[in-house]
Amino acid sequence: MIPASLLQKYNVPVPRYTSYPTVPFWNNVPDATLWKQVVQKQAAAANNTDGLSVYIHLPFCESLCTYCGCNKKITTNHNVEEEYLQAIIKEWHLYRELIGDEPLIRELHLGGGTPTFFSPENLERLLSEIKGHAIIHPRHEFSFEGHPNNTTRGHLQTLYNIGFRRVSYGVQDHNARVQHIINRIQPFENVERAVKDARDIGYTSINFDLIYGLPLQTKESIIETIVQSIALQPDRIAFYSYAHVPWTSKAQRLFDEHDLPSAAQKMELYRTGKQLFMENGYSDIGMDHFALPGDDLYIAWKEGWLHRNFMGYTTQRTNMLIGLGVSSISDAGLAFAQNHKTIHDYYQSIADGELAVTKGHFLNNEDLVFRDYILDISCRSKTNFHVKDLPLLKQYVFPELKKLMADHLITFNEKEVDVTELGRHFTRNICKAFDLRLLKSEMMQEEKLFSKAV
Ligand code: SF4
Repeated sequence: MIPASLLQKYNVPVPRYTSYPTVPFWNNVPDATLWKQVVQKQAAAANNTDGLSVYIHLPFCESLCTYCGCNKKITTNHNVEEEYLQAIIKEWHLYRELIGDEPLIRELHLGGGTPTFFSPENLERLLSEIKGHAIIHPRHEFSFEGHPNNTTRGHLQTLYNIGFRRVSYGVQDHNARVQHIINRIQPFENVERAVKDARDIGYTSINFDLIYGLPLQTKESIIETIVQSIALQPDRIAFYSYAHVPWTSKAQRLFDEHDLPSAAQKMELYRTGKQLFMENGYSDIGMDHFALPGDDLYIAWKEGWLHRNFMGYTTQRTNMLIGLGVSSISDAGLAFAQNHKTIHDYYQSIADGELAVTKGHFLNNEDLVFRDYILDISCRSKTNFHVKDLPLLKQYVFPELKKLMADHLITFNEKEVDVTELGRHFTRNICKAFDLRLLKSEMMQEEKLFSKAV
């Protein structure tokens, strides 16, 4: 059992570290010419090695889940599919022309929004166009996010025929009262059917997204949700914390804040969930993710080749991720770039024959070094220090590591750090100890405060 006192102590805002530097620290210089040069260089390297990853953001949803913080567009008008599809195809060709050769695709993920808002026929057209101008790596991994309410057997079969073997279902919570208040009515039978269909067709990995901290959730209701979920034996479970940010997410104003569990109750929900996963054979592979021993993510974690990028944990380590669609983020190793966040602006750039990137970050040497430390901690639960980094490590990181070691979350010396069994439950907090940009900014703030006081 994880001590409640530690959960309380480390229950502080911490990034998910799907990128380093994290978005608030981007220098926002998506110089188009420089970005294109980096893409060309990285894609050429990717074509000669492990291939590249492609993420496609499909933003439409038929109804608004009130907890949602994703970039989405609510509509029941399916005529929107065609225009969006054409824009993605055009964007893909812009990248393809930039790269020159046919890109070697290792990893492909459809996220949203609700990818299964699109008809199977339209998804097939889109993906045929992408695949038709690319080489598919023999060890490719294709995955998509499915809404249990509208993922049909047709979707599953079509995507399976194209090469998809992984599906991630947004389950969130099975309790009827909770579903009502979050405006996501999703009978258990729908989830059961979606899982059964996927298994019948041949999908080899099924993930459930669950959320704790939602309005009206209680310890009893979360136990019920988790027990029902585990009965369907998803290979992976992502157990996310609900982030209540009504000032940025207007839909969250639709329920009363008194309906939310208190901070202490929320922590209990989290503890209860983790406990149940562990008791039922799931391993905590870090940062909200649990997996059964046979799953590839678990094997990658055990064998030390797990990787993490903007899509979260992955078994594919590529050095180039092309993000297509509104708000998508691309990662060219030395630089990040994010597309426009509104569909209008995104369409405009693509219609003008331009990449839709609007902000980004070029990594400096320090970023590259500390990104590797964070990746090591988040994916391998250990890292070795380079002698040349010791001055910076000693100044910023070691004081944080000492605090973590005092709580038995890590062991460390001047050569390496190892995350303990207990520490694995706090992977994000340990990554934060290597977040040089955050540490520097915190120190600057303290210095400012200090000056003021004097
Ligand atoms: S949670 Fe998913 S389905 Fe619901 S509004 Fe957000 S993106 Fe759409």
